[in-house]
Amino acid sequence: MAQPQMPQTRNWRFEIDFEGLGWLTIDTPKAPVNTLSREAIAELETLVLRFEDLIASGELLGVILLSGKDSGFIAGADVSEFDAMADYAILPGALRRTHALFDRIEHLKAPFVCAIHGFCLGGGLELALASHYRIAVNNEQTRIGFPEVNLGLFPGFGGTGRSVRQAGPVDAMQIMLTGKLLRAGQARTMGLVDRLVRHRDNLRWEARKAVLGNKRSKAAPWTRTLGGLGPARPYLAKRMRKEVGKKARLEHYPAPHALIDLFEMHGDDWRAMVKGEIDAFVPLMVSDTATNLRRVFFLSEGLKKQGVKGSEKPVFRRVHVIGAGVMGGDIAAWCALRGMGVTLQDLDMDRIKPALDRAKSLFRKRLKKPVEVASAIARLEADVGGKGLARADVVIEAVVENLEIKRKILAEAEARANSNAILATNTSSIELERIAEGLKNPSRLIGLHFFNPVAQLPLVEVIRSKFNTDLDISRGASFALAIAKSPVVVKSAPGFLVNRVLMPYMLGAVERLEKGESKELLDAAAVAFGMPMGPIELMDTVGLDVGKSVAHELGREVPENSRFAALVAQGKLGRKSGEGFYKWEKGKAQKGDPPVHADLAVLGRELVKPLVDMTVVTVNEGVVVSADLADIGVILGTGFAPFLGGPLKARQDGKA
Ligand code: NAD
Repeated sequence: MAQPQMPQTRNWRFEIDFEGLGWLTIDTPKAPVNTLSREAIAELETLVLRFEDLIASGELLGVILLSGKDSGFIAGADVSEFDAMADYAILPGALRRTHALFDRIEHLKAPFVCAIHGFCLGGGLELALASHYRIAVNNEQTRIGFPEVNLGLFPGFGGTGRSVRQAGPVDAMQIMLTGKLLRAGQARTMGLVDRLVRHRDNLRWEARKAVLGNKRSKAAPWTRTLGGLGPARPYLAKRMRKEVGKKARLEHYPAPHALIDLFEMHGDDWRAMVKGEIDAFVPLMVSDTATNLRRVFFLSEGLKKQGVKGSEKPVFRRVHVIGAGVMGGDIAAWCALRGMGVTLQDLDMDRIKPALDRAKSLFRKRLKKPVEVASAIARLEADVGGKGLARADVVIEAVVENLEIKRKILAEAEARANSNAILATNTSSIELERIAEGLKNPSRLIGLHFFNPVAQLPLVEVIRSKFNTDLDISRGASFALAIAKSPVVVKSAPGFLVNRVLMPYMLGAVERLEKGESKELLDAAAVAFGMPMGPIELMDTVGLDVGKSVAHELGREVPENSRFAALVAQGKLGRKSGEGFYKWEKGKAQKGDPPVHADLAVLGRELVKPLVDMTVVTVNEGVVVSADLADIGVILGTGFAPFLGGPLKARQDGKA
């Protein structure tokens, strides 16, 4: 049929079919995912203007919005524009314009239906919530949510009020405050999605039916809105503040607190909440926290661009791990969780069994569905004889920290492994070159330094020896990315990056403790500065024996007559033995109240200074190739205050 005259757009395609249905496809040019850039929004304005006319003239019965990308629906607003938008002169106007556009979509006289597959996040979800009906594919790829909080923000295109309208305040606030992404089924249960289909192929048919049936999404039933009403609201707000405060202090991360304020003010009136959004959003966007969190976001995204590109891109299917202890066992489990076939070798079956048991509980916790748990269990095999070596694409050695043993094991692995397989060691202190020298081809060995607990810490230091080529290291980075870890390339040097910067911080605090300062005060001060955990609690968590040996490796001996040395001698090794500097019960340090201190954050800054100073040294010595890489490596490896943008950024800003 003859198509009506439509505006020229780069981000959208539109056509009306013989039934009068308008098919609108978003397809962001030259990008792997769709984003709502300023250009896309401006183009959508011109389209919606035409939709209004076409609906009025009866030529258009409804609009169905689909994505032209396999990756998903819409990943959100375009974060690369945020720095330019973080301006009091531009942002309020731009937000008001988008609010007005979404209101017009909501007020269209014919149904506007969103057909969702893959990621539907942030601004993408806000657009979907302004539409009349939402259909999503019920598969593993679909993820729906508001990750704005990770960028120091909350939804700014009307998503606050509209999600409260659809899901009720308790659920809506929960997803906005945590940034947790939902699967399709969960989003349907919450009322953010109206209908599920099994396959992407079914979306069009179901969307057509929704338009022809004039389907309209219903707001949350009144029972779910109760938390927003009357005296329930301040009570709920108070509870949320308490929960949020445990992880995000107001002075460090204002966004979740500002969102709770907005809810407390308008939680019984979704329209008022949408209206109040802009004034609360703008100061967040221009804040130092959001600026720094954007920096962290781009640095993390940059890590994903590492690895081998093009035809040489390696494929990893099988991993062989030697050593089923704390690290080897958990590395093996993690690789199996991420879909690889894994063989796990140790001296005998008794030493492998505990690792398999730990793996099972990890699979149950993360995968939930019994079939998926069962297949992960099947992917992880005990392998005392090392039969998996010959088939593996990656061999990771994680046996005891002993040069001779590591050399012997890796020489044997080199002889038996596929000539193309990556050979890696998880050593935390032995110079890579000394291990590699025992191999026929020393350039084959790289370091893949995981952190404990493997399932929780995202960083893998990819260690480069003087024998390695760029390709060897890129292959290591590719593997880390294939198991969803963040690779940071580090030169083989004592302590690499993370242990090198952590040790002076922890030892500095232990010295103050030895001189009589309160451990509770030291820990509270570091947390007040923005560290996830204080240095004494961290030493207990790492293990005093491990701390002592890393200190030795870095040339800082623990004095014989110290309390530290005495605790190690008594086997009081910290969390794992039930007592170290603290007593530990059920995985929690038993802390008393810290003494009153005039300015905890200033004390915290003093404590963190050695870490920041050492980060400067690692850059000067070329342990990491750039200050940016040092910042993101230290954030991912130590949890260093992300809202400060990394130790070097914090120093540059005069904050550390
Ligand atoms: P661990 O003592 O828990 O485990 C070592 C395992 O190696 C034991 O199960 C042992 O039986 C096995 N093993 C010893 N000789 C073997 C051989 N010839 N063949 C097969 N298996 C053998 O040690 P861990 O803490 O898991 O540390 C392993 C490696 O990881 C070390 O190099 C360590 O420096 C490094 N690392 C440890 C941590 C940590 O926090 N524990 C963190 C990063 C790196």
